[in-house]
Amino acid sequence: GPVLAFEDVHFHYDADRPILKGVSFTVPAGKTIAVVGPSGAGKSTLSRLIYRFYDAISGRVTIDGQDVRAVTQPSLRAAIGMVPQDTVLFNDTIAYNIRYGRPDATDEEVAEAARMAQIGEFIDGLPQGYDTQVGERGLKLSGGEKQRVAIARTILKAPPILILDEATSALDTQTEREIQSALDTVSRGRTTLVIAHRLSTVVDADEIIVLRDGVIAERGRHAELLAADGLYAQM
Ligand code: ADP
Ligand code: ADP
Repeated sequence: GPVLAFEDVHFHYDADRPILKGVSFTVPAGKTIAVVGPSGAGKSTLSRLIYRFYDAISGRVTIDGQDVRAVTQPSLRAAIGMVPQDTVLFNDTIAYNIRYGRPDATDEEVAEAARMAQIGEFIDGLPQGYDTQVGERGLKLSGGEKQRVAIARTILKAPPILILDEATSALDTQTEREIQSALDTVSRGRTTLVIAHRLSTVVDADEIIVLRDGVIAERGRHAELLAADGLYAQM
């Protein structure tokens, strides 16, 4: 798989308020790196710089050594799968939404991804608000259900690079556990960046990076961070 790297990345949205002040880390091929830190620390910003919703002010984000700014948007989209915090669905069937990243997928593959993400029963339904004529096919999906659609899409797409941004945050505990195992399956062997609020959700990461005040305040494996500072046990 590809190697994803941040090299001395500086970033701000507003010039008077730096968000990232020289952030460097590598996600080795096929490994999982987790980023934790307080709300507003800039965690989601990292994913936006990979996907190029924004570009670094200085420094570089690279995939296999190549600056993402030199990668075409279609290749970037093909290489990366993202499960965002807030999933916005297209106004079409759930099956269409799941197939979106891989138009060539068969109905069986779409159904299997939906089943793994536990959204199978909704597959022919339409998100609420699409078309008042659809009658009983219209769905009112909760935030968690929408997130499961995004997870099904990612399972189907099986991209070389995965970005999971609080990927199970909107799910109840039982569903979270089940979805987590589906995500573990899809992330195995893929280059994965997990963004999380709580250290307890990223126990198995190959490395955990603690982002605070725009810099990497600490890094290590789960047990090392727990041993280093009891504070993180609460995160
Ligand atoms: P985290 O994911 O760690 O909670 P974010 O990366 O979402 O943090 O945001 C980091 C900081 O940047 C926050 O203070 C947030 O309010 C601010 N921010 C996020 N997006 C924008 C934007 N588009 N314009 C200005 N400020 C933003
Ligand atoms: P696509 O590349 O599939 O056409 P987008 O580029 O709009 O779609 O978004 C790619 C993924 O990133 C989607 O899952 C989307 O929900 C998410 N996303 C879109 N905008 C943002 C943003 N500003 N910050 C974080 N994630 C986003």
